[in-house]
Amino acid sequence: MRFDVVTLFPECFGAVAVSKIWQNAIDSKKLSLHLHQLRNFSTNKHKTVDDTPYGGGAGMLLQIEPLVAAIESIPRLEKSQVWLMSPQGHVWEQDRAVSAHADLQQIILVCGRYEGVDERFIEGWVDQCISIGNYVLSGGELAAMVVMESVSRVVPGVVGDAMSVSEDSIQSGGLKYPQFTRPREFRGMMVPEVLLQGDHQKIAKWREKQAHFRTLQNRPDLLKEQNILPTEVKGKTK
Ligand code: SAM
Repeated sequence: MRFDVVTLFPECFGAVAVSKIWQNAIDSKKLSLHLHQLRNFSTNKHKTVDDTPYGGGAGMLLQIEPLVAAIESIPRLEKSQVWLMSPQGHVWEQDRAVSAHADLQQIILVCGRYEGVDERFIEGWVDQCISIGNYVLSGGELAAMVVMESVSRVVPGVVGDAMSVSEDSIQSGGLKYPQFTRPREFRGMMVPEVLLQGDHQKIAKWREKQAHFRTLQNRPDLLKEQNILPTEVKGKTK
């Protein structure tokens, strides 16, 4: 999967690149990340890329010329889309990360700033607007990183152990069971006995019950999505 990011703050993406998972995936060519500084596509000598909105109103908007110039400078793979980060987009969910990996070879993520972008850019050059939740950020950089991280995890081989991805909360259709590591006892808090006995069948059963119970308690909406009745889960957790 190739990611291209159009942004005024490419340095933010160092936060992704420091991750060992990303470094390995880039080295093994499973992922590539290309950052494009929007300011380099400014059409004026002051290198500005924003202007006031027609009709008045608060703040500034990213102008269409540098946005289009940035998009048109990016080499396109066959299955490629342009996604604008926007609180007005469809809310991002795990199943979209899975289908993005299945359907696309390249995602061009455009990070808005200020009051957003000139609407004509959305009409002419954007395939999808993506929101990462019902709140407003000051820029699209964090949103782009969220999208990149979640898509990258479903690219085979990016996360070393495929089991860890398929068992992930949400990806598995529910929440993951509780987990523990050393020490066995911390200030009187013990690791559940079943995990220490080495009986893998018993452990698998315990984990399944715990996962169902946790989903029922914290995210019953996920059970509804799978048409599982809470009563079925209650039965299992007894
Ligand atoms: N005035 C815009 C509106 O009402 O739709 C919001 C602009 S916001 C302050 C600036 C930029 O942050 C947006 O263009 C977008 O790129 C990004 N952004 C803010 N909230 C976001 C969210 N929930 N999901 C994705 N991107 C977001």
